[in-house]
Amino acid sequence: MTKASPDVISRAGELRDIITEYNYQYYVLDDPRVPDAEYDRLFRELQDLEAQYPDIVTPDTPTRRVGASVETTFEEVVHRIPMLSLDNAFSDEELRDFDRRVRDRLKTEEDIEYVCEPKLDGLAVSLHYESGVLTRAATRGDGYTGEDITANIRTIPSVPLRLRGDNIPELVEVRGEVYMPREGFETLNKRLADKGEKTFVNPRNAAAGSLRQKKPTVTARRPLELCAYSVALEDESRLPATHWEGLQQVGAWGFRINPEMRRATGAEDCLQAYNELMDKRASLPYEIDGIVFKVNSLALQRQLGFVSRAPRWAIAQKFPAQEELTVIEDVEFQV
Ligand code: NAD
Repeated sequence: MTKASPDVISRAGELRDIITEYNYQYYVLDDPRVPDAEYDRLFRELQDLEAQYPDIVTPDTPTRRVGASVETTFEEVVHRIPMLSLDNAFSDEELRDFDRRVRDRLKTEEDIEYVCEPKLDGLAVSLHYESGVLTRAATRGDGYTGEDITANIRTIPSVPLRLRGDNIPELVEVRGEVYMPREGFETLNKRLADKGEKTFVNPRNAAAGSLRQKKPTVTARRPLELCAYSVALEDESRLPATHWEGLQQVGAWGFRINPEMRRATGAEDCLQAYNELMDKRASLPYEIDGIVFKVNSLALQRQLGFVSRAPRWAIAQKFPAQEELTVIEDVEFQV
């Protein structure tokens, strides 16, 4: 193993500090200081350095963590199953590499079936239902501990307070993305600007800021929506065999699931799904920042497992940056 030079050690330390600060601004204050593309570049630079020189990895490195520590405004909720992040692919080649790694781990040359889902740009929430009734909602937080936002979640019209239909388990957790459609975002910002209040940088921040309001009455006035993208049961034996079927079940319970989702077999078909979604991107009523590919078979997902901050059975292929932050003030760290 090559030993890291003092320059590499110092650059890695600098990157850790910068990324930790940006995480705080983004996840805790809902007030990003740099465009996502810039953040992603720095994050990848640190990941590459750590891959090349594993001895420079520190226990607190942001590349092994999800989100940022939670604030104390809300009650803490410990997630039964951690809410992880997703690895990113920034090119077709990186997507093909991901598919190759999946097949290598599964020791198969067969094409893998994936579910391709638009990556909504909002924030992840976990919803618990007991005997079909919504009992608790939480943010992702640092992946292990989130914030109890039940009162705020209840104000979102597309969140079922009671599940519909039959086949309702005793305990079920549904996860999804809370987001703000473009039109609602523009109307909200206009309303804030007219009142001389601070506007939001993008719909993602508007959604995060609206959901983490101390007063549910404020959240209730914000145009938020929820789209479900996964389901977990206490009794795993009652889950269907595939992620796709799980999503259909969630839809039947009364959740919105994304109509743009489709299945793809093998990497080339996934890349076609990427291009199709890219073509539709501008016409969608909400912002997406990429596409998520998930191994469809739940048995294969279990076999693949997780690494520190993301599952091995899923990846997000990012779209090119759409908007850049227009004003960047008070940037503490220059890179
Ligand atoms: P991520 O956004 O890359 O991916 C994980 C998240 O995707 C999940 O938590 C979930 O909320 C979301 N998601 C949307 N659709 C989904 C679907 N169909 N299935 C599963 N998940 C879905 O990871 P992250 O950890 O939330 O955030 C990292 C990203 O946030 C960075 O890549 C960067 O773009 C941005 N960021 C920006 C700054 C900044 O200062 N600008 C700071 C921190 C993070």
